[in-house]
Amino acid sequence: MENAPLHALPIVQLGHQALRKIAAVVEDIQSREVQAIIEQMLVTVKKAGGVGIAAPQMAIDKRIFIVCSKKNERYPDAPDMPATVMINPEITSHGDEMKKDWEGCLSVPSIRGLVPRYQEINVVYHDRENNKHTAIYTGFLARIFQHELDHLNGLTFVDRVENTQDLYSESEWYRQFVE
Ligand code: ZN
Repeated sequence: MENAPLHALPIVQLGHQALRKIAAVVEDIQSREVQAIIEQMLVTVKKAGGVGIAAPQMAIDKRIFIVCSKKNERYPDAPDMPATVMINPEITSHGDEMKKDWEGCLSVPSIRGLVPRYQEINVVYHDRENNKHTAIYTGFLARIFQHELDHLNGLTFVDRVENTQDLYSESEWYRQFVE
């Protein structure tokens, strides 16, 4: 693996069992195996143009995700954040307020959903050098973190919509909200 060329891995799609498992805690963050997985995740999310990706989306059973927020048509005020690797992430507390907003997912193509999420969360995670970080995220960053954390717990955003009528086809979503 060490000298293998880096290429994007396939992203598994809704229905794949990897998306329905509780992912395993990462025990040895600085191992060659885990570092190689992180490199492949970085390549894969960049190629896919996503704002985040979780290891189970590549059928990898590890509690790792990447957040790489950037502006988009739905979130013009989203912060530009360099790709940030988060290992064994947890939400330690959250505010009371929840807000519904649109989400999509690389593993759920062509569907958008209105998903309620906490507006403010306190989190803890480890980086790839095994340093522990705490952070407070609000708004779009809090939304991405909750979406990706769900992937580590066998959930996708379609499990979080309050009502199936909050699911739209992507083409209809564009027609109504973007064009
Ligand atoms: Zn997703």
